[in-house]
Amino acid sequence: MPGLDDLRKAVGRLLKRSGPYEAIVKEYIRDIQRALISADVNVRLVFDLTKRIRERALREQPPPGVSRREWLVKVTYDELVKLFGGDDEPEVKPPYTPYVIMMVGVQGSGKTTTVGKLAKFYRSMGYKVGVVAADTYRPGAYEQLRQLADRVGAMFYGEPDSKDPVSIARRGVEELKKRGADIIIVDTAGRHGYGEEEALLKEMQDIAAAVKPDEVMLVIDAAMGQKSYDLAKRFHEATPIGSIVVTKMDGTAKGGGALSAVAATGARIKFIGTGEDVDEFEVFRPRRFVARLLG
Ligand code: GDP
Repeated sequence: MPGLDDLRKAVGRLLKRSGPYEAIVKEYIRDIQRALISADVNVRLVFDLTKRIRERALREQPPPGVSRREWLVKVTYDELVKLFGGDDEPEVKPPYTPYVIMMVGVQGSGKTTTVGKLAKFYRSMGYKVGVVAADTYRPGAYEQLRQLADRVGAMFYGEPDSKDPVSIARRGVEELKKRGADIIIVDTAGRHGYGEEEALLKEMQDIAAAVKPDEVMLVIDAAMGQKSYDLAKRFHEATPIGSIVVTKMDGTAKGGGALSAVAATGARIKFIGTGEDVDEFEVFRPRRFVARLLG
């Protein structure tokens, strides 16, 4: 992930340093703190993480044949992987059907695009997928989703003339269940106009109460930065977030905000978006992701 390059550099510097181990650890910790903070990772999260790395670095002995500095890199790697949910890939197969996924996130994050990508992903696994257009605020959202559904072979429900997203969502989920959908994905609005976040969050609560989603998925733009922590937290308070999709991982954004969103919600990143096309979408792999961070 571009921007977290400093983390890689910190590791490179560590491996070249000489002097007393404790001083090396101290400088290394300062380096990675700086790298993570400049990559927009929430400050508290950075301090918690580096505290654990420091403690393990000073307390634990490396296995035979491994230098203490190499060990320190391994500890950093492990602690970062843990933060992203550990070694296992996230479970993306729904535990039962029909399964209702409600998407939330701010306008422009890539929510509607991600609904199309998810629909395609689950279609390719053999599920019957239906999507519901419950974003009644953004002009064009209805048509965009209708076309995406058509393209990926998903059933579609929408009411182009209605301004009542709660009723659309309720009727859409009922209707698509009747039509035999295994997985139903509800697209929602990301904006209510300037300064109307309260109204947006209330709408999310109302939609969630109406459709009782099995999973609420937060869509977050990799470029969101420091704001991700608060944003994710507020959505989480309105409708408990079950999973996260990080979009625009193909861009030059620092992306550290994703880590903050994980910390704010306790939810796992399940997928990443890597481009505008419906195929540019992957299951999130923590170890691979961290390997890329550390180089
Ligand atoms: P919404 O307002 O959250 O529903 O956002 P949209 O789905 O309309 O997406 C906003 C813009 O982001 C569109 O131009 C999308 O093509 C673009 N977009 C979405 N996901 C990705 C991604 O993973 N990578 C890139 N480069 N662009 C994306």
